[in-house]
Amino acid sequence: MKENISIDVSRFKPQINEKEKKELDNKNITECPFCGVNIKNYSHYHFKNDKWYKSCSFCYYTENIDKLIAMNKGDFVFLNEMSQVDLFNILRHIYFLDYLYKNKNSKDNKIDEHIEEIYDSYLLIQDSLSDRKEYAANLMCPSANDINIVTDYLSVCTKEEYDNSKHALKYLRWLPNQEIFKEEILWWIENNFKENCHPKDYKKIILDIGRKNND
Ligand SMILES: [Zn+2]
Repeated sequence: MKENISIDVSRFKPQINEKEKKELDNKNITECPFCGVNIKNYSHYHFKNDKWYKSCSFCYYTENIDKLIAMNKGDFVFLNEMSQVDLFNILRHIYFLDYLYKNKNSKDNKIDEHIEEIYDSYLLIQDSLSDRKEYAANLMCPSANDINIVTDYLSVCTKEEYDNSKHALKYLRWLPNQEIFKEEILWWIENNFKENCHPKDYKKIILDIGRKNND
């Protein structure tokens, strides 16, 4: 079973040394150990539970959100019914679908038919994810969805406050600003999804999500 990913900052984690780097590089890891996406071209040294891993940008920055340098990092959303990795997998499907939609009228008309049919459902999923931003502010505290404020707090609070914050953070998920990862997302689409996914399989995924939400 894959390990869980949760929102965190880097302050209590060590720096990687050259020997540890070399050991990891020699393993030729091609898949993110947390979400399974291909990391051949984009990867980070990721410290977790006393061990070093190589992970994708989404998983790495979730657990080291203070390391992400960007004006708009995205939002924290209240989404306790779904794991962070499940959310990333759904987002990657949305990005893939969006890519297919923007590049439609391809030679493969069969794909186009499926896209038309499911694109609206995916827009609905995207909207309900953005709604969850408000949930974080209303159910937790007004700044709970603000990545910069939460990150600043986690970076300066006492160790005791930091440990206590874990309870609240387990309800939050990171909804990344996809603009930051534009190149990487395109690389995933072309190297992971084009080969392994077909929009005809999406109906089943959407139904599964609906079922999960109604449980
Ligand atoms: Zn990952």
